[in-house]
Amino acid sequence: MADPLALDGGTPVRATLLPYSRQAVDGDDIRAVTAALRSDWLTTGPLVGAFERAVAGAAGAAHAVAVSSGTAALHAAVSAAGIGHGDEVVLTPLTFVASANAVLYCGGVPVFADVRPDTLTLDPDAAEARITARTKAMLPVDFAGQACDMDRFGTMARARGVCVIEDSAHSLGGAYHGRPVGSLADLTTFSFHPAKLVTTGEGGAVTTNRDDLAARLRRFRNHGFDTDFRERQARGEVYSPMVEMGYNYRLTDIQCALGLSQLAKAEGFLKRRTQIAERYFAALADVPAVSALAVDPAVRHGWHIFPVLLDLERLSATRGTVVAALRAENIGAAVHYVPAYWHPYYEGLGYRRGLCPRAEAAFERLVTLPLFAAMTEADADDVVAALRKVLGHYLR
Ligand SMILES: *Cc1c(COP(=O)(O)O)cnc(C)c1O
Repeated sequence: MADPLALDGGTPVRATLLPYSRQAVDGDDIRAVTAALRSDWLTTGPLVGAFERAVAGAAGAAHAVAVSSGTAALHAAVSAAGIGHGDEVVLTPLTFVASANAVLYCGGVPVFADVRPDTLTLDPDAAEARITARTKAMLPVDFAGQACDMDRFGTMARARGVCVIEDSAHSLGGAYHGRPVGSLADLTTFSFHPAKLVTTGEGGAVTTNRDDLAARLRRFRNHGFDTDFRERQARGEVYSPMVEMGYNYRLTDIQCALGLSQLAKAEGFLKRRTQIAERYFAALADVPAVSALAVDPAVRHGWHIFPVLLDLERLSATRGTVVAALRAENIGAAVHYVPAYWHPYYEGLGYRRGLCPRAEAAFERLVTLPLFAAMTEADADDVVAALRKVLGHYLR
């Protein structure tokens, strides 16, 4: 007899919960933050610029503008791209809702296009079919850490006179045909939330190669002022002219101290995530009723999350039951993402189910396995053991 599931009162595979993600903060990070706290600058000081140079370097871009979250980065990028009332932005529904919300913040209209069946990233053909005279931008999201087909999006954007904003919250450190993520689109957004590759607590950045867009992003994060406090002080000016609408989306020196310290370790973090992902790939090959997503050979994967697809036809349980059973085994399984337009707020705006059938069908089968830099091989083996136990139990 197989062991009974923890969900049915059996012994869990692990004694303690393995979360789906967790930050890796060490003594160096803590010392860096402490030093910032003892310095003259808590908010916009010298560490903001230093962090921006480090992010731009990692992303292979001319400019990085640090902001207070990945969501603020999206808002700033959509605004800098000139999206205003009624302008359409074509994007994937398989994303965190902030990608679509950023379009709404600017008065734009999110237009959802379906995903590729193999990688679940925005399908360039589906995106192209949604372009109209009102389209101002396309917003591909590097789902799970995998850059989208950026050559296709770039060619399409130039032909149609639209802009490309890449939501790369999942793919810092990744690359496409050897070019780093952050250098591939007109504007690329990153997040430094604790679940992401490197963290500043909350934080984000936008990278771009265009000087004009960088200047707009800097004004946008600081009330629409054309100078910041330190520049005004240096010039002896008593006030800064507000030249356009902006927000307080600044990142602090304290956060940038953490970000600089984390970014120095990013390569090691990604290497570790890649090792865990490879261990999953090898082990999943002989677990029934589950498969990993395809990896595009053109891509260096950012391995933010490890989603798998359940073969529901072969199981007597729903995805919801499988996730609950994994959690009972102390494996912090999660789901990324419910199609953005299924959220009640979007339904209220008039979006209906059925818009993107491939994304919707994938959502019903998706489960995210734990993946983070501080995971051990034994943790990964626990995940596979729990998956084998749970799926074996529900196999038809
Ligand atoms: C995390 C994330 C964001 C938002 O980032 P925050 O820093 O949490 O605001 C946006 N888009 C995607 C795809 C994300 O995963």
